Amino acid sequence: MESAEVARRFLNFFEEHGHLVVPSASLIAEDPTLLLVNAGMVPFKPYMLGQRTPPSPRMTSAQKCVRTPDIDEVGKTARHATFFQMLGNFSIGNYFKEQAIPYAWELLTRSEADGGFGFPEEKLWVTVFHDDDEARDIWHKQVGVPLDRIQRRGMADNFWSMGVPGPCGPCSEIYYDRGPEYGREGGPIADEDRYLEVWNLVFMQFERGAGQGKDDFPILGELPAKNIDTGMGLERMAAILQGVDNIYETDTLWKILDRAANLTGAKYGRDQRADVSLRVIADHVRSGTMMVSDGIRPGNEGRGYVLRRILRRSIRNLRLLGGEEAGLMHELTAVAIRTMGEQYPDLVRTAANIHTVIDAEEESFLQTLRTGTAIFDAAVEETRRSGRPSLAGDQAFKLHDTYGFPIDLTLEMASEQGLQVDEDGFRRLMKEQRDRAKKDAQDKKTGNLDVSALDDLLGRSGGQVEFTGYTDVVGEA
Ligand code: ATP
Ligand code: MG
Ligand code: MG
Ligand code: MG
Repeated sequence: MESAEVARRFLNFFEEHGHLVVPSASLIAEDPTLLLVNAGMVPFKPYMLGQRTPPSPRMTSAQKCVRTPDIDEVGKTARHATFFQMLGNFSIGNYFKEQAIPYAWELLTRSEADGGFGFPEEKLWVTVFHDDDEARDIWHKQVGVPLDRIQRRGMADNFWSMGVPGPCGPCSEIYYDRGPEYGREGGPIADEDRYLEVWNLVFMQFERGAGQGKDDFPILGELPAKNIDTGMGLERMAAILQGVDNIYETDTLWKILDRAANLTGAKYGRDQRADVSLRVIADHVRSGTMMVSDGIRPGNEGRGYVLRRILRRSIRNLRLLGGEEAGLMHELTAVAIRTMGEQYPDLVRTAANIHTVIDAEEESFLQTLRTGTAIFDAAVEETRRSGRPSLAGDQAFKLHDTYGFPIDLTLEMASEQGLQVDEDGFRRLMKEQRDRAKKDAQDKKTGNLDVSALDDLLGRSGGQVEFTGYTDVVGEA
């Protein structure tokens, strides 16, 4: 089953059950606490908070998502992409657990011929929040899942809140058993590689107060209007339905991966490290293409920096595979546009624009690498000769300040060489530079400094280092 068909089936099923099909919102979140939309419910949040009236109390969507906190998992696990699509059904004060659970089961197990996904019942496992007996009973008594395939989990995995006072509630997750060749028996609590999480059902049931930590807050009571928010990973479903090992081998991503292998001469499936690079390239090129298409431009802050980092990681992984020449990103972007174009016709319409942005970023990064890599290599050489385990802070600083190497890049390149980086030393020098700039700004006010040099300094020291978007993004489904 093609990826596009997975989305069609999901939406059709819920449309048949009275849900309004809502098109995906842009990746640029309206919500000011988020850089990028990272879950299907994000555009529906104002309805769930009672701030806006929904066009229908039952809605369904296939939402584009980017999860930057997952970037280091990409290519290493079978299931994490930076860009992915979350299929969801939403009830705003309409139906609750007693319907959401049977809907999910029916869609997953209904035969493919009848418009479902045709999963054998015995392959499915579910988790519930540890004291959510209501959900457990629905799974067991109403749906018929044997108790030994229902596992209980605690706050960290099976309780959802936005991190602030407001609606919250237990979740129930559905997992597909990929079989003993993928790992240990014992259900999802034993092994999340073998048991692949495909769908998360969130039951927005309670109101929480302010609390101490992420998982420690008082429950103030039941919400008067309870909501349902679910998220199914389209790519994970496609991997199962297409019988492949991981999401990077599903139809759309595979075409990019395969082209990257052709362009660099790498052979997929021979070498662990090269395989990871190929998967990273496939994922990142697609993410970059989707982000540019939604109007994001590479930059040094916020989502612009996320995009820049993703594009530059693709380019660096191409180089690790021996693909050093300019123009590779153009070829790969063209494949991403073609393969995603069926679901997102805008990509094809604006292809020329997307290429212009990505080609320019490739050109500027290749220039950065040309000048900086020799300096980096010399620093590595010197570190090795001296027997130190880390690249010195002043070397990382010089790479940043003179050659435009963001610290992320230095960290990643050092780690590829088996070295660490003295990050504390680096940050100290950055701070000294900032303090100097501040003092100069004071002096500027009193009228004795070359202003153009100062602007240059401030411009370069802003954003890159203090950016904390990867860890600060909140509110996942
Ligand atoms: P995991 O535990 O595997 O990291 P999650 O619990 O963080 O997943 P949710 O926040 O529950 O994921 O998101 C709902 C669904 O979206 C998941 O069940 C999964 O199918 C899909 N999903 C989540 N993160 C990713 C990702 N990085 N790449 C692809 N699909 C994802
Ligand atoms: Mg996750
Ligand atoms: Mg999970
Ligand atoms: Mg989950």
